[in-house]
Amino acid sequence: MINNNLNYPFLLVSILILSAFCHVSYSAPLELQGSLQQGGLVIGKVPQGHQVIYQQNKLKLTPNGQFLLGLGRDAPTQIEITIINPDSQRLVEVLSIASREYNIQRIEGVPQTTVTPSETDLKRIRSDIALVKNARKEITDRMDFLLGFKEPDIGPITGIYGSQRYYNGVPKSPHYGIDYAAPTGTAVKAPAGGQVTLAHNDLFYSGGTLIIDHGHGLSSTFLHLSEIVVELGQIIEPDQVIGKVGSTGRATGPHLDWRMNWRDQRIDPKLVLQALPRAN
Ligand SMILES: [Zn+2]
Repeated sequence: MINNNLNYPFLLVSILILSAFCHVSYSAPLELQGSLQQGGLVIGKVPQGHQVIYQQNKLKLTPNGQFLLGLGRDAPTQIEITIINPDSQRLVEVLSIASREYNIQRIEGVPQTTVTPSETDLKRIRSDIALVKNARKEITDRMDFLLGFKEPDIGPITGIYGSQRYYNGVPKSPHYGIDYAAPTGTAVKAPAGGQVTLAHNDLFYSGGTLIIDHGHGLSSTFLHLSEIVVELGQIIEPDQVIGKVGSTGRATGPHLDWRMNWRDQRIDPKLVLQALPRAN
């Protein structure tokens, strides 16, 4: 019979190696700014010649070694990023991610057809999803995000990121944007510069929808617009008027819904404003 106790020294040794390894990884030449919490955005920096890997993706670096990393609404409370130095040595950095509690928001009075869509509508919804996904798929070299973001401060906030939503009593996907109530026709200014990757007047849920790429997988989406005043492919300056507030799509009244993505992760615009505030 094998004595199980014999295994303990080996276990201890492996724990020691692991903790030594973790310790080494903490001295990795990595700077992080922003918020390590669900829905957060982090801007990191590594020295020249280093690479950063996250979830098997090599992250895009600016010429100064800066990179973005976004955390979804339900991101795990621990993530790993791997840094590869110029000698091809890999260092694993384990990061703790703070979890958040999200509230429940009940919306009554939206058209019932938007809560229980017909077969024809479902077809349209699927094609809308494909259009939006396509508009966010390219990870470009643009660096507009480095100049920071400014809130499109056009009215009171009536919806926040992450809320679990019930429409006419039916549980639906969470809300991912910040809602600003404002009269139809109110000018919407770009929170940061970028390039238009989608300008569509009538998506099923989001109505007049505009997507701007800020670079490195970071994008803004503006929903329910009554009018879009820029075109697909157009380069946008910070504060440029891009459209007008409306209540198109599934909306109970005129408001702007501003959402942000990092790659396929939906992140909280409020935390982007904290991580990358605009100076002026
Ligand atoms: Zn909204």
